[in-house]
Formats: sequence, C-alpha cells, structure tokens
Amino acid sequence: DLGSSLRGSLDKLRGKSRISEEDVDEIVKEIQRSLISADVDISLVQELSDSIEERALEEEPPAGTPARDFVLRIVYEELVDLIGDSTELPLEEQTILLAGLQGSGKTTSAAKMAWWFSTKGLRPAVVQTDTFRPGAYDQAKEMAERAEVDFYGNPDNDDPVEIARNGLEETSEADVHIVDTAGRHALEDDLIDEIEQIEGVVEPDTSLLVLDAAIGQGAKDQAQQFDESIGIDGVVITKLDGTAKGGGALTAVDQTDSSIAFLGTGEEVQDVERFEPDGFISRLLGMGDLSQLAERVERAMEQTEIEEEDWDPEDMLQGQFTLNDMQKQMEAMNNMGPLDQVMDMIPGFGSGIKDQLPDDAMDVTQDRMRRFQVIMDSMTEAEKEYPKAIGQSQIERIARGSGTSEEDVRQLLEQYKMMEKTIKQFQGMGSEQEMQRMMK
Ligand code: GDP
Ligand code: MG
Repeated sequence: DLGSSLRGSLDKLRGKSRISEEDVDEIVKEIQRSLISADVDISLVQELSDSIEERALEEEPPAGTPARDFVLRIVYEELVDLIGDSTELPLEEQTILLAGLQGSGKTTSAAKMAWWFSTKGLRPAVVQTDTFRPGAYDQAKEMAERAEVDFYGNPDNDDPVEIARNGLEETSEADVHIVDTAGRHALEDDLIDEIEQIEGVVEPDTSLLVLDAAIGQGAKDQAQQFDESIGIDGVVITKLDGTAKGGGALTAVDQTDSSIAFLGTGEEVQDVERFEPDGFISRLLGMGDLSQLAERVERAMEQTEIEEEDWDPEDMLQGQFTLNDMQKQMEAMNNMGPLDQVMDMIPGFGSGIKDQLPDDAMDVTQDRMRRFQVIMDSMTEAEKEYPKAIGQSQIERIARGSGTSEEDVRQLLEQYKMMEKTIKQFQGMGSEQEMQRMMK
C-alpha cells in the first residue's frame, strides 16, 4: 500500500519542526512513487516533485506547525494548483460535446450528465451521433430512457454530421444538449475529421474529453490530439469505481490546460459526481484527510499567537507532561481545533485508540480554559513544571493571587492529572505500536 509507505516516511518527521534535505528527499520519492503508480505522466511527476522539493526546503514552517503537516500542505497545494476546481458548467441553456476513444465511457457519461442536469431542474437531451459502433443507437436510447431525459438518434442514417444537425432541431425543447460521438480503438484521421465536422455544426459551449480512469501514459497524446482538433475544456473520468486512480486525467488536464468536470463511479446513470479536488487528491496519494489537515495548518498560520514557542502536539507524547504543556495545548486548541481532532491527524493514533479514553479527558470548555489561564498566571515556573509538588499552602496562595477560589485551583489540578494520565496512555500505546512495527 503506497499510502502507508508515504505515511511511514512522513512519520519520521514526528516531533520535528525543521526538515532536513534527506527528509524532503525521502518524502518526495514516496510521492513520486504514489503518483506514478496512479498513472500520472512521468514528466509531470518530475515537475510536481521539483516544485514540492523547492518549497519544502525554502519556505519556513510557521511557528507551531509540525514539519510533517507543513510538507503535506505543500504537496496538497501543488496538486490543487495543478488540478484546479471542477470545470465550470453554468446551470443554464448550453451544448456539450463529448469526445474520446471507444469504450472510454462517452455514451454512459452522456446519459449520466443528462441525469445530473435534470436533478438541477433543467431539461436535458442526449443526441447520439455514433454510426460506427453497432448497437450504439440502442445503447444510448436505453440509457437516456433510464435517465428519463429527451433523446435523439437515427439508426437509419449513416451521416453523423447530419444526425447532429437534426438532433439539435428535433430536441429544441430541451435546454441542455449533450452530443455523444463515435470513438475508435485508436486515434485515426477519419475520427478526427468526423468530430471536427460535428463540432462545426453543433458549436458546443463546452467540449469534454472522456477518459477511462485506467488510461495510463496514453492520456497525453489523446488529450493533445483532441485539443488540437476541437479544443478541450474539461475532462470526464470514468470507471473510478474500479481500482484505477485516474492519474491519467491529471496529464490530460495539464496537457489541455483545462480541468475535471465529472467523475463516473459505476454503470448506472446515477453513478456520477461533479468533480471535487479534495477527495480526488487524497485518493491519488492513497491518503485520507488531506484537505482537512491543509486547512488546519492554514488556520494555524493565520493565527500565530503561539509563535513564541514551537509547539507540536506530538511533543506531548514525549517526556513529561507539565502544566506548561497543558497551557500551550489549550492555547493551540484555539488555532488547531479540539485536541482529540488534532490527535486524529497524528499517524498511529486513530479513533480506535481515542475511543478508549474517557470522554471528558479532552474536553475543556472555553470558560474553564479562561479561568485556568488566570490561575496558571499566578503559579511559579517550578510549580507549572512539577505540579505534583503543589500543596495546600500553595493552593491558598495561587487562589488569592489569581482572584479565584481554592476549589477552582483544585479543579485545574484535577484536569491536569486527568490529561497527564491520558497522555501517558497515548505514550504507552504509541510505543507498543512502535514495537509491533519494529518486529514486523
Ligand atoms: P463509449 O464507447 O465511449 O461510448 O463507452 P460506453 O459508455 O459504451 O462505456 C463502455 C463500457 O464501460 C460500458 O460497458 C459501460 O457500462 C462501462 N462504463 C462506463 N462508465 C463506467 C463507470 O463509471 N463505471 C463502470 N464500472 N463502468 C462504466
Ligand atoms: Mg458510445
């Protein structure tokens, strides 16, 4: 599993706030491996990893951001930058032309997209111009029926350009026209000729290239040829319900300077999704939660109140947990979200472990937090570093100094004890997992 080896090399950054050249090198190699196995074009992978490497070495991680999160954020940003948002498709009258090789999923996608537009309150029609493939008419008609949308085709006419022209006329009551075309097993001049002529008659607002998710390094040539002949505005990736990760689409998007419009995820007309970069990128890298993590790092960067000290949630898992740690953790919660969610992002500490913890161990209300901070301000450094030495006379002094009650101070110490115990549990489980990993 590639995702897990990428996670493995990211794990080595645990607790670090600076990244060495070797660290970056290793991570970049893992990312290259993930992308290449997802069928992303080799030269594109090289380009991507160069810019990731450059940024990871040159940019300074913001205070309080673990190096691992920082590198992941760069990876995520570079991929988002390349893939971009989904192809813009206004919910209004328009004509869409589908291009692609035979078997890529054009006819299925035409019906799916028509269904999708119908769920948005529009009236779509599918125009079928494939006169090349036997049974194309029946297949398209049946799928349009399943999608409950208007349909035009003519099995008795062998001129696809004429069918396209008639089709638009005959379905003039529809507002979204989706024109399906024939494919061939390979790119041939007559296919290109045909689709250029259809394009001339149909004058589409948007031309989409339909690609099977399993397409590998061939994506580049196809994208280039279709782009040169009709101009490609977006890509539809089909068969994402299989094992292929659809990296070829990245190549096509890069080659045509376009974006991804839809994802096909099954054989039924409802198995279609509008493209959304987060899930797709996580799938490409074989990792979950990437966008969430990137957002958190972003937020932490925006609010750099905890700048004075590099605080890393993973630091808590090493060594003694002190009241200072608890205070920093409480401050950081404002920036990074609740501790239990921060814990989720640390590899090896999934929800399975978290579920074994008492519910309120991680829960400090805003109110209590503010009170605790006032109390801690009245403590000496030694007391914060070694809270166990705080006795009755210190409690009285701290309560007086902070204008709180002795009960408040005791509550704080109770909270501390509970968190310390929790952290110890984490530490125990962490090292157990470490042991298991080493023994494998
Ligand atoms: P065309 O030749 O480009 O029109 O491709 P078709 O639409 O006829 O699809 C070719 C085959 O792929 C058919 O058997 C479809 O059922 C199948 N297919 C298309 N899209 C998907 C998809 O998203 N998932 C799965 N599992 N199969 C698909
Ligand atoms: Mg077809």
